[in-house]
Amino acid sequence: MSPERKRGSREWALDILGLSPAAGAEDVHRAYRRLAFEFHPDRHAGQPEMEARFKEIVEAYEALRSEAADGDSHHPGEPPRRGRDLHYDIRLDFLEAAAGGEVSVQIERPFVCPDCGGGEGSGCGACGGSGEVLEGAVVRAIIPSGIEDGEEVRVPAEGAPGGAGGRPGDLVLKVASARHPALERRGLNVRSEVRVPRFRLVEGGTVRVFTVRGAAHVEIPPKTRPGRTFRLKGWGISRRRSGRMVTGDHVVRILEMPAKPPKAPGRR
Ligand SMILES: [Zn+2]
Repeated sequence: MSPERKRGSREWALDILGLSPAAGAEDVHRAYRRLAFEFHPDRHAGQPEMEARFKEIVEAYEALRSEAADGDSHHPGEPPRRGRDLHYDIRLDFLEAAAGGEVSVQIERPFVCPDCGGGEGSGCGACGGSGEVLEGAVVRAIIPSGIEDGEEVRVPAEGAPGGAGGRPGDLVLKVASARHPALERRGLNVRSEVRVPRFRLVEGGTVRVFTVRGAAHVEIPPKTRPGRTFRLKGWGISRRRSGRMVTGDHVVRILEMPAKPPKAPGRR
């Protein structure tokens, strides 16, 4: 039985991130990005052991980062600088925002210009004097289910690289969520209308309802008045709130299908 490594120690942190003792700062960032993506709680809703694992990964990363910042021999006397956050907008349709999931985002990430080493105003041809060059990258991000229009998702360590051993910035995705022609969102609840023929209102029976979770069925009683609403519990949008999954309802308003338009009056 191997001795338990002390939580927060370098050996423990390397173990958690699956790294060898020779790992450099870039290896640490890379392992962290990969594991943080894999074990992100939004991919494993309702699995506390995955959430615990994710917390360990973040803790291990923080432990190795602070260590690198203390004793980085490559940049003597230079304080580590955190990289900038990069901001991008992404558009999701209504059902994508409701369900959440993985998205791939094409970004351009700035790096210190290799030709001039970042010397601004140097008249460098490679970077036009800005000291930075851009490199295309595809970043995978987890969009939590139930995200709202205008909210931001932070993808750790996918922003601009840090300086002198500092950690990279984050990628910040601002979500724009489109409206849906038939579904209306109120927090985690969703509303819609369904039109049924007159005989269905009179006789009652099963009505099929389109929801964010697929087709649901509601039983309406005989002599249902048009405009009456029915609540389908748990058929709304789910969202993680303080570690728990909370789910809204679907509220459907039953209306009468308009009668067929009268035939054009015949000539007399
Ligand atoms: Zn340059």
